[in-house]
Amino acid sequence: MSSKIFKSIWIAAISVFLTSMIFIMDISYNYFSTLQKNQLKNETELAAQGVAKSGKSYFENLNTEGYRITWIDVNGNVLYDNEADSATMENHLEREEVKQALKNGFGESTRYSNTLADKQLYATKRLPDGSVLRLSIVQMAVWTILLGFAQPICFVILIALVLSFVLALRLAKKIVKPINEIDLDNPEQYYNKENYKEVEPLLRHISAQQSRLKRDQTQIEKTALIRQEFTANVSHELKTPLHIISGYAELLENGMVKSGDIKPFAGKIRSESSRMTKLVEDIIDLTKLDNGGAEMRWEDCDLYRIAENAIDSLEVGASALNVTITVKGTNAPMKAIPQVIYSIVYNLCDNAIKYNHSGGSVTVDVQQSKYNTLLIVKDTGIGIPEESRERIFERFYRIDKSRSKEVGGTGLGLSIVKHAVMIHNGKIEVNSEVGQGSDFIVTIPNAQKK
Ligand code: ADP
Repeated sequence: MSSKIFKSIWIAAISVFLTSMIFIMDISYNYFSTLQKNQLKNETELAAQGVAKSGKSYFENLNTEGYRITWIDVNGNVLYDNEADSATMENHLEREEVKQALKNGFGESTRYSNTLADKQLYATKRLPDGSVLRLSIVQMAVWTILLGFAQPICFVILIALVLSFVLALRLAKKIVKPINEIDLDNPEQYYNKENYKEVEPLLRHISAQQSRLKRDQTQIEKTALIRQEFTANVSHELKTPLHIISGYAELLENGMVKSGDIKPFAGKIRSESSRMTKLVEDIIDLTKLDNGGAEMRWEDCDLYRIAENAIDSLEVGASALNVTITVKGTNAPMKAIPQVIYSIVYNLCDNAIKYNHSGGSVTVDVQQSKYNTLLIVKDTGIGIPEESRERIFERFYRIDKSRSKEVGGTGLGLSIVKHAVMIHNGKIEVNSEVGQGSDFIVTIPNAQKK
């Protein structure tokens, strides 16, 4: 970066220097031209006085080096010319400077000579007898002047190059030094500091990025911890039924069970394996939902119909526990993932039956407004204490572990519900009174992002 800044400064300095040089040359050239013209005018004036006084004899032994002198009579005939034979010269009446002198007493003009790129300056003066004296010199071209100045110009350019090189180098180092000294782990300390004003937006950006990274890191660590806990919990939950199954199987294998007890033993093995099956099914569901339901299809469905189906499959279990279950409300067409919506209704109703009293009831109410679809599962069960209302949605959290196990719970039902609601951009609320019952209210917006 330092070399880039250095190069930019150096190039800028040299460009400014060269441009200024060109301007100065141009101004000087114009200044010298004006000076030369005025000088020629004065010299013509003086020579005219001499010719007026002495006539042609004025030109005798006159040192005319660098000048051309022409004397023209009132009719334009050349009387004298120091560089050509006046007799053979053409009539000069039409020359601009001669016309001016005859008319105004004085004239001047500039013409390019035929041979050179140099310009010829002419100055004329009318004499008292009406004749005209003309002096002319060569005006130097820019490149001729430049050639004359070549040595000092090269010297100045060299000094400018060296000087701007050294200055650019020092400046680049000075600019880069504070930037190199920045402690990027702590960019906030440079805010509102004079030296860092220009890089402050960059520092703020870095700081924001760092906080985002820290946040992400914490989130990753948290997720890893949750995963770890989940795996440990799953292993633990699976171990218990496996131990029971293998214990009973061993007793049966060794013939240590009386023939009358074989049936209850086999029944225990079956119920423990179905607990395991339920647990594995719940884990599979949860894993699918963890992926945000990416592979699942969004379809047109009706929450009311789905609720009826869920209740159909729960009815037998409910009547076994002497709990009545009913569905009410209206049809609620929606765009959703049907099997995920089904798992919401199923798990909520399953809990409402499991954690109920004998003779209790469960009511499922489906409502739809312009913006939302509502599912309310109301039970007359044991209720949920205030302090557990948030935690029941955590994986494997149970208020009464033995009761949950007794009724075949896995501790994953409400986590599945929570994820399922989240995938549908909805929310879930719980109202409950211990000993009286609970209401689970699910609100799903009708306009889905998917
Ligand atoms: P489980 O498989 O144990 O039912 P859930 O995740 O479905 O797991 O529920 C977590 C815990 O929340 C349950 O163990 C239970 O203690 C409590 N719970 C859930 N639903 C109800 C309800 N309708 N009434 C009372 N307690 C409930």
